[in-house]
Amino acid sequence: MKIGKELISAVEIDEKLAEMGAAITDDYRGKNLLLIGILKGAFVVMADLARHIDLPVEFDFMAISSYGSATKSSGVVRILKDLDQEIADRHVLIVEDIVDTGLTLSYLLKNLAVRKPASLSLAALIIKDGVERPPLDIKYEGFHIPPKFVIGYGLDFDGKYRNLPYIAEVEGID
Ligand code: 5GP
Repeated sequence: MKIGKELISAVEIDEKLAEMGAAITDDYRGKNLLLIGILKGAFVVMADLARHIDLPVEFDFMAISSYGSATKSSGVVRILKDLDQEIADRHVLIVEDIVDTGLTLSYLLKNLAVRKPASLSLAALIIKDGVERPPLDIKYEGFHIPPKFVIGYGLDFDGKYRNLPYIAEVEGID
């Protein structure tokens, strides 16, 4: 495989995260916000988005597997690492890198809702268009892209390329 065309530049990503961060800052002012990042992919967006949020936020992470090393969703979601803390009565914002089939997020929403947070919302940097998925209310959205497999900015191909500072297509896969 080869790194393909650049789809979203590092500058565009930063501008979008600044907008999302400003909206989150407005919406959660005076509240005790807990950001939950979904590993591994969301570690990059989490770090950059959080620095555009002008509030004393707290962080936690969950690791979920839905892909293996293939490029198609398996529909199987497994918790590899759960949260370190209770979220009852907390204002929780889930931070996700990309929404494809939506299976990961709809599973997570159900799993976290039963823990009775004060509020539970979603932020996602990239949403794939043209994919059938369960209805998901994504409160803070970044970019919409065509339903292609992409890498960079936290997103991997076979474990690599997460450190690309931009989002790119992949050449030579189906
Ligand atoms: P979903 O459950 O929405 O199908 O998939 C969510 C997860 O699948 C994402 O958090 C990400 O880890 C992975 N994923 C979905 N689409 C892509 C993609 O285009 N590239 C990469 N590298 N991972 C993806």
